[in-house]
Amino acid sequence: MAKANDHRQNARQTGKQTGKLTACPLAKKCGGCQLQNMSYDEQLGFKQAKCKRLLGRYGKVSPILGMEDPTHYRCKVQAAFSYDYRHRRLVSGVYQSNSHRVVPVNDCLIENKKADEIIVSIRKLAQSFKFQAYDEDSKRGFLRHVQVRIGYNTGEVMVVIVSGKPMFPSKKNFVKALLKEHPEITTIVHNVNPYHTNLVLGPKNDVLYGKGYIEDELCGCTFRISPGSFYQINPQQTEVLYNTAMDFAGLTGNETFFDAYCGTGTIGIIAATKGAKRVIGVELNKTAVRDAKSNARRNNIENIEFYAGDASRFITDMAAAGEKVDVIMMDPPRAGSTEEFLTAVCKMAPPKVVYVSCNPETLARDLKFLTSKGYIAQKVQPVDMFPYTEHVETVCCLYHQKKEFISVPYEPKNADYLKRIPGSATYDEIKEWIQKHYNGMKVSNLYIAQIKDKHGLDKRENYNISKNPEAKVPVCPPEKEQAIEAALRHFRMIP
Ligand code: SAH
Repeated sequence: MAKANDHRQNARQTGKQTGKLTACPLAKKCGGCQLQNMSYDEQLGFKQAKCKRLLGRYGKVSPILGMEDPTHYRCKVQAAFSYDYRHRRLVSGVYQSNSHRVVPVNDCLIENKKADEIIVSIRKLAQSFKFQAYDEDSKRGFLRHVQVRIGYNTGEVMVVIVSGKPMFPSKKNFVKALLKEHPEITTIVHNVNPYHTNLVLGPKNDVLYGKGYIEDELCGCTFRISPGSFYQINPQQTEVLYNTAMDFAGLTGNETFFDAYCGTGTIGIIAATKGAKRVIGVELNKTAVRDAKSNARRNNIENIEFYAGDASRFITDMAAAGEKVDVIMMDPPRAGSTEEFLTAVCKMAPPKVVYVSCNPETLARDLKFLTSKGYIAQKVQPVDMFPYTEHVETVCCLYHQKKEFISVPYEPKNADYLKRIPGSATYDEIKEWIQKHYNGMKVSNLYIAQIKDKHGLDKRENYNISKNPEAKVPVCPPEKEQAIEAALRHFRMIP
């Protein structure tokens, strides 16, 4: 179990890292570090307060577990490439928020330093090899993106060079030159992505050097990371998160452990090594399930089964078949779980549910349901997985009060709040985000409601409707509409 470092104590321990980031010149254009105006101590306080406000009514919120050094934690770094015609040079960096213009980045205070260095070297080499940046519209050029992934505990380094065309000019010489500059690289992969898409990687990988993947270790288990695999980007804090989840699960050697939304199987595999008698994992993404099965084999785990499918349907079928489990571990995406899933949880009534959440708002919504059906939130532990961003991860341990109470079939009366929403933010959070990213622009509740309405989102209040049908309602101007849509996109409320 990670040491419970109260954020104030943490702030003292972190010394100079507790200060603000040296003002990042790209902050506005990049938009990645929403909390960069705060010291680390203030950020932890902000996240703690958010969790307390949303989750405090369900259980005591323990002090957030922060990082000792909150910088350079991203072990997966991606850069887009384009050509700067004015200065006649290649540029690499991030897309400016809501655009396809590349903002040049050489180093970033939350990205792994080695990864940033490698990307700069690739850009310089590419320039000397006269590679052109790929242009999505004209479909000309070659170099599109570079992805670098680092095994935090193994030190292995994977470089994925993404091009818009399959032909890699001077392939052998380029690889040789790159390895000469960075002998620490353990594998190089060429990925081809010729599509007009926001996805970085295309479907085809060609291994140019090494084994084509890296491995990393988490909580004593080894995991394989291929170019497209999901793997938490902050492995150091992932260990803290998983250790907390395992601690809450309290396995003794006899439990059947259900790992819902299991991704590449990391939590289930660790549970199998920490005493679960049987582990069942379910995940929607078929590639992740394939990785999960291979990860289980790699760790010699035999008492584990992984299934590809929708978690809600899967658990509903399990409940209907009268299956019993002892622990449900659930780690859904930002949208949280579904009414169907939670209803099945209550029907199966396991003594313990451990909920790992990356969005305290949907966690609060789901806790409202579970606690109204006899579950009690015993522990709520926030973990700072993404310093300098507004995101906060939370692990919640629930046990149920009375078995008889839970096994009564649930008839929802007013479960509107559980309607599946793809992400959520309050009006205030939307306003705050817009002010910060659009030069202090102010938008009204009415305008937000109008744009939410346009996208078919639940408005909660009918700001749009006037009692007097003749009354004129102001219409949101286009620049505010664009800002509100950017905010909704940022909060994943619209695609
Ligand atoms: N527990 C994993 C992954 C958590 S991320 C880890 O710690 O690495 C959430 C996962 O839920 C993603 O892998 C996503 O593909 C999966 N997911 C999203 N919707 C789902 C659904 N309806 N049913 C099952 N899995 C789903």
